[in-house]
Amino acid sequence: MADDLRDFRAPIDLHTHSRMSDGTQSPEELVRSAAGVGLGTVALTDHDTTAGWTDAAATASEIGITFIPGIELSTRYGWQSVHMLGYLFDPADEPLTAELERIRSARLTRAESIVERLSADFDLTWDDVLAHAAPGAAVGRPHIADALVTKGLVPDRSAAFATLLHPRGGYYEPLYSPTPLDGVRLIRAAGGVPVLAHPATRGRDRIIKDVYLRRLIDSGLAGFEIDHRENTDDGKAELRRIAAEHDLVLTGSSDHHGEGKPNRLGENTTSPQALERILDESAYLARGV
Ligand code: AMP
Ligand code: FE
Ligand code: FE
Ligand code: ZN
Repeated sequence: MADDLRDFRAPIDLHTHSRMSDGTQSPEELVRSAAGVGLGTVALTDHDTTAGWTDAAATASEIGITFIPGIELSTRYGWQSVHMLGYLFDPADEPLTAELERIRSARLTRAESIVERLSADFDLTWDDVLAHAAPGAAVGRPHIADALVTKGLVPDRSAAFATLLHPRGGYYEPLYSPTPLDGVRLIRAAGGVPVLAHPATRGRDRIIKDVYLRRLIDSGLAGFEIDHRENTDDGKAELRRIAAEHDLVLTGSSDHHGEGKPNRLGENTTSPQALERILDESAYLARGV
């Protein structure tokens, strides 16, 4: 894998989802779409699962596009959900896989509990939700949203998130998640490279403030996903300054979810220099697997 990866081509999109979490395409379809829009390199970063890696990698090598294995780990900072991208780690690493299993199992219990409460007021069952999740997928609110759409209770996913599935919508439950610091440590210990996903969605009002951010950086946080449609200009400017100060990597990505979100493959991209740094920092890759 090491030699092939060094031959990557631009454009580079380092954040996408398949049906193994809340995207609407299979890993194979996703990689074919990436090649179809002219990307040279694509990462698959499903929420809390690596289940799509094998199919995505096989398709990528078949059609001649570079595949970067990744994940978007759910973490929690106080009451706030914080997404941590991780690249090129050992998918068999025991502590990380144990934590991922714990999160995915919590996802199921939590989704069932949200649906139970919704079912008291609406015609919605757990089977309706399962019908929208691929076998083995990391289940989440997007699948509940899809079931609500099918039942005609909301017009689309976004409407579901803005109303019934909103944290203040009356049915929400938080998801068990490790802290961002645990996330950074777990990904690094598995030989991977942690990058904070869309960290500037709320302008200068960052969820993670300076002192804790410093701890993440000191513990191995590699960089920020800076070019992402939900990051604000204000927030990006500030994060660029912090990144320069600590010599962090800056990435850009689409966060494509197929038809599940308007984000389109390649709408934001990562520079070849940034990807080189990520490859350089992967201890898993350095082991020559
Ligand atoms: P969960 O992890 O189950 O709490 O669900 C959060 C996921 O829902 C995120 O990963 C997003 O990809 C997705 N999501 C959040 N807001 C929206 C939205 N407005 N439309 C579609 N998907 C969304
Ligand atoms: Fe998502
Ligand atoms: Fe995210
Ligand atoms: Zn994402």
